[in-house]
Amino acid sequence: KVRVRFAPSPTGALHIGGVRTALYNYLFAKQNGGDLILRIEDTDSQRFVPGAEDYIIEALTWLGIKFDEGVGFGGNYGPYRQSERKEIYKQYVDQLISNGLAYIAFDTPSELEEKRNAIANFQYDASTRLQMRNSLTLSAEETNTLIAAGNQYVVRIKIEPNENIVVNDLIRGEVIINSSVLDDKVLYKSADQLPTYHMANIVDDHLMEVTHVIRGEEWLPSAPLHVLLYRYLGWTDTMPAFAHLPLLLKPEGNGKLSKRDGDRLGFPVFPLEWKDPVSGDISSGYRESGYLPEAVVNFLALLGWNPGNDQEILTMDELVKLFSLEHCSKSGAKFDYEKGKWFNHQYIQKKDNATLAALFQPVLAEKGIEVCSSYVEKVVSLMKERVNFVKELWDQSAFFFVAPLSYDEKTVKKRWKDNSSAQLTELIEVLRTVDDFGVENTEEIVKGWIEQNQYHLGNIMNAFRLALVGESKGPHIFNITEALGKEETIARLQRAIE
Ligand code: GLU
Repeated sequence: KVRVRFAPSPTGALHIGGVRTALYNYLFAKQNGGDLILRIEDTDSQRFVPGAEDYIIEALTWLGIKFDEGVGFGGNYGPYRQSERKEIYKQYVDQLISNGLAYIAFDTPSELEEKRNAIANFQYDASTRLQMRNSLTLSAEETNTLIAAGNQYVVRIKIEPNENIVVNDLIRGEVIINSSVLDDKVLYKSADQLPTYHMANIVDDHLMEVTHVIRGEEWLPSAPLHVLLYRYLGWTDTMPAFAHLPLLLKPEGNGKLSKRDGDRLGFPVFPLEWKDPVSGDISSGYRESGYLPEAVVNFLALLGWNPGNDQEILTMDELVKLFSLEHCSKSGAKFDYEKGKWFNHQYIQKKDNATLAALFQPVLAEKGIEVCSSYVEKVVSLMKERVNFVKELWDQSAFFFVAPLSYDEKTVKKRWKDNSSAQLTELIEVLRTVDDFGVENTEEIVKGWIEQNQYHLGNIMNAFRLALVGESKGPHIFNITEALGKEETIARLQRAIE
């Protein structure tokens, strides 16, 4: 059975790239009838940020990415928070040491600093470890005495040089890295009695029976070390398959997308608004910016993957059917924010009017407007094609809810003719006779009156619109009159000619 995991570190708000990783894991799991696990990788206590875990769960829930197991979801492979699995890791660290595949090192930060200054391009590895203070250079007795005396230490993996390590990546194919470039990474720290990311990650993927590791490209350099760890722990047979996803790039394509790009270009890089608990700074989120979760999902799905044709509008169900790691690109995906807005526009059009009206009501309430939902639905049906976001409906359609208080000067100059007052006065009389205020009927009667008198159609319509809207925008004029109704239409005309 396919088992995949999303394994964020709770070091702050979840970046949109992390959301995409979670999404691809979800699509892959669902497509294969598998399970998606949420594992919280919180072994780095220095970088732990309170609230981050809740944020991650809330964000992914909003987007419709559902977990089968993990923190907040239960399951048989827990606990799913790494800080609660200390004892589990320790036994595997000890196993590596007793098998001679890892060793204890006492070097203090200042000793390491000294070496770095003395040796150019210093790396803690086969070429230098015999010059350091560790269990390879100290006797077993000395090592034990140091530990007993309370000296802090780390455990490092012992990597043999000059071996080509092969990582089989489902997206990139065979990636080969020579072990000589790897350092003896720290696997465990006595100071907090916790393993580092690498150790905890491999132990958990093994014990949680993860079959596929789908994660960002930034982890590809760690993959050879992970392959070695599987071998050292004797788990090569059940090693998961790897798939490293392409980076999300700046809109210009030059480098990795960062929060600063969002600030610079005015778009969110986080799914939900985030208040930094230390600085108090608030970063905007897709949800608060008015995005529909379906639009965000669709937009992100296509950043680094394509269905093999040019279909762009894909629901979650369709994505589950079509997704494939083979169609993920190797090269980075440019973050095209305008495209994100386009997706939101598309999903707004797909929503039925009642749903959109319900989303628009709070905006109206904020403006102090109380109207029945059928009227809001009518307005929404006329105006939705003009907006990318629900909140933009207000700018486009305020005149449906409040009569113009003033008239746009430029428009008045251009569109209000000497005879406009007289003509609109006549128009009022014509409208008074109209019983059925529906679009077609009103249009026919008004146009008939214009024709009969050989008035200038354009001039009358312009003045009419100015009276109803206050400027020269808006949908078809008889859609406006139908929505406003007879009384309000006439009242607005009257106000305009006064
Ligand atoms: N904790 C890592 C992260 O924050 C997980 C990397 C992985 O998926 O192996 O991205």
